[in-house]
Amino acid sequence: MEFKAFLIKYAEIGVKGKNRFRFEDALIQQMRYALQPVGEFSIRKESGRIFVDALEEYDYDEAVEALSRVFGIAGICPIVVEENKDFDHIAAVVCDYVGERYEDRTFSFKVNVRRADKKYPIKSMDVAALLGEKLLERYEADGLHVNVREPDVLLTVEIRDKVYIYSDEIPGPGGMPVGTGGRAMLLLSGGIDSPVAGYMISKRGVSLEATYFHAPPYTSERAKQKVVDLAKLIARYTGPITLHIVNFTDIQMAIYEKCPHDELTIIMRRYMMKIAEHFAKESGCLALVTGESIGQVASQTMQSLYVTNEVCEMPVFRPCIGMDKQDIVELSERIGTYETSILPYEDCCTIFVAKHPVTKPRLDVIKKSERKLDDCIDELLKTAIETEEVVKIHAH
Ligand code: ATP
Ligand code: MG
Repeated sequence: MEFKAFLIKYAEIGVKGKNRFRFEDALIQQMRYALQPVGEFSIRKESGRIFVDALEEYDYDEAVEALSRVFGIAGICPIVVEENKDFDHIAAVVCDYVGERYEDRTFSFKVNVRRADKKYPIKSMDVAALLGEKLLERYEADGLHVNVREPDVLLTVEIRDKVYIYSDEIPGPGGMPVGTGGRAMLLLSGGIDSPVAGYMISKRGVSLEATYFHAPPYTSERAKQKVVDLAKLIARYTGPITLHIVNFTDIQMAIYEKCPHDELTIIMRRYMMKIAEHFAKESGCLALVTGESIGQVASQTMQSLYVTNEVCEMPVFRPCIGMDKQDIVELSERIGTYETSILPYEDCCTIFVAKHPVTKPRLDVIKKSERKLDDCIDELLKTAIETEEVVKIHAH
């Protein structure tokens, strides 16, 4: 059956009181963005509901998929919209709907009527009872029967300016609309974890910027393209992302030449955080986001996280911190980043990696090692920042 419209239900954002319109507007903006490649739709809000009307032929599955990536949506209901509110006409439309939507009609149902139009001459309860009768008249012989406690199918009829009929609710992703929770800077590598971290933070309504460090010629153009591709995949959920690409080679070489090799990763990570924080401040971000998870590798022990964190003034959010690798992998599969993440291109961190990195770095020791960079690091940081490449990433 063909649907020309959807009713969008939202959960948490329904309870935001005076600010509700801000949440609704952000949600609508994200829905517009998600639906752009699917076709022409008009989106409007009406008392705690958002309606999407198709203005042309479109692909139903594509539309549902696009909407199921919009944070803030609790449910997506494909609806039949009827302008003629005359009861007999509605009853005929409802019967046709059930006939068309369900080939096999051996199920129990309940009719749920909401009457937003209080001038409608028949009360909700009565409309529900009358519609139930009509449906039984037509389909009882097929096996259709009533169960008001636990119906297999809940058929909802909303009487508003028009009449809306639906019985399916496809779950949305939940969360809050992106743009309602401020902005954060994601340290995006080509790995599995950081795209998942970005997804999780933005699910709470936070819009993202991202910083990627590469080390040409030690890392290839393809490794960089992989990160751009990952950002594109995340942008399907977040909307456009500004990606800062930083040439980290000289800093990495300087650390390699002057600092103890077992401390290399930790020192490198401290400079990454510093640079990312610089861009974050410049663009109004209030936090950094990484894909770190306790104990996953040497640079993610509690001691290492403590030492890395110490360079930052901003809060650093690590949504994967308590997750097992397997759980992160599953989430990355679900959001569609996994296949790209596992492409085997070199990461700038893995190139100069020591055989036996420190797992319990001490802050004072690391700081002392960093002093060996005193004569060059300011200049190197300045150059890395000045030569950044900025790419605006769009999902489509
Ligand atoms: P990921 O799968 O996210 O790459 P990982 O398990 O490989 O994580 P690390 O390489 O130790 O772990 O990186 C920890 C975090 O540091 C990453 O999740 C990411 O947020 C950040 N990071 C690491 N390398 C880079 C890079 N080249 N550019 C930007 N951020 C990076
Ligand atoms: Mg990595």
